[in-house]
Amino acid sequence: MEKIALSPAAAAILWRLEAAGFPAYVVGGCVRDSLLRRPPHDWDVTTAARPEQVIALFGDCHPVPTGIAHGTITLFWEGEAVEVTTFRVDGPSLDHRHPDAVAFAGSVEEDLARRDFTVNALAYSPQRGLCDPFGGQVDLQNRLIRCVGDPARRFAEDALRLLRAVRFAAQLGFAVHPATAAAMDAAAGLLSGVSGERVLAEWRRFLPCPGAGGLLARFGPLFWAAVPALCPAGGKGAWLAAAEAVEGAPADFPLRLALLCLAGPAEGAAGRAEAMVARLRPDRRTAGEVMALVAAAHAPIPRERPALCRFLASRGREGALRLVALWQAIGRLSDGAAERLADGLLSLLEQGVCLTVRELALSGGDLLALGAAPGPQIGRLQRALLEGVWSGRAVNTRASLESLARALLGEGAPAP
Ligand code: ATP
Ligand code: MG
Repeated sequence: MEKIALSPAAAAILWRLEAAGFPAYVVGGCVRDSLLRRPPHDWDVTTAARPEQVIALFGDCHPVPTGIAHGTITLFWEGEAVEVTTFRVDGPSLDHRHPDAVAFAGSVEEDLARRDFTVNALAYSPQRGLCDPFGGQVDLQNRLIRCVGDPARRFAEDALRLLRAVRFAAQLGFAVHPATAAAMDAAAGLLSGVSGERVLAEWRRFLPCPGAGGLLARFGPLFWAAVPALCPAGGKGAWLAAAEAVEGAPADFPLRLALLCLAGPAEGAAGRAEAMVARLRPDRRTAGEVMALVAAAHAPIPRERPALCRFLASRGREGALRLVALWQAIGRLSDGAAERLADGLLSLLEQGVCLTVRELALSGGDLLALGAAPGPQIGRLQRALLEGVWSGRAVNTRASLESLARALLGEGAPAP
């Protein structure tokens, strides 16, 4: 029998539950990942003990009733958090998202039957071994995501499972079982009832995965149901091109979201991005990055040094490199050209090129002393000095900037 090495907290918690007469197992993702020889990122326990019995048994582990309605208590064992959930069955769901009632179950098999995919419906205990009533191990070997039970029913119970299916397929590099995939196509419309917050949380994990492009291509209508703005007016071909662009792009969430908004006519992209942001409500930074990328997708590509400096100054290092990657992903730059452009930007940064007026070797006060008028002229002069440094008309030294400032003042106020 396959042995799974448990975390110290999981081992200790199982041991104490069993010693008190409650069957207990580690369950779900931690078993799946252990069998795949991937390090589990957290350990969940399922047990016959009722929540109040878990609390009574683990008074020394700061029990927190994090999901008491679902029978979940979080325990802290030497700093490691473990969620302990009583065996349960979920009732039917009217909103396609939350079961209307949960009931405690008598056996681990019943508990596993409520879980989403066979590879997640695995439980293990050192004494009792692996519990695998739905063929999860075989599906792990065959690298398949397959629903536990009737897929149509399982997606109708909880539409979030549609997004979890593509997310696990991408994360694990698995295929979706044909019957599960067909049920996903049929149930896609239910995603309109899933909150933007949950869609966003799933996509954050899904989109950067290798293989995300292939799943985007296969399950287009499912993604459009989740975020209707992404349904490409230009037809399926535009979406397939975007999926391919995602596949070739760096594993960067804002960049890949922006690529999805670029599926379809260019003039509609900003509107699609705005509607997508309104639906998903990402943090301001992510939203800003997506909007900026979409807005600049068809902007002129900087070539000469002043334009490169202006580009870096306005977007910052990360923003500039991300935009280069986007241009490459949508085919505006060949791989070689993108690499040269990125290298050029990085070497400007390495040379310590001055990108803001604050970095100029001549201050606003110095400009006043040279005879500039107080007020907006100072800012315009500073900007012109910066442009002068970028174009090679001056270098960023006091003497060089002073002579350029004198020349500019002599020419009259620099144009804004
Ligand atoms: P990861 O933590 O890597 O995302 P996981 O499998 O641990 O993977 P969780 O979301 O932490 O996923 O859920 C833990 C377990 O709970 C799953 O393995 C699955 O058995 C079950 N589960 C979670 N969400 C659902 C759901 N929506 N429907 C049915 N079962 C679910
Ligand atoms: Mg988990």
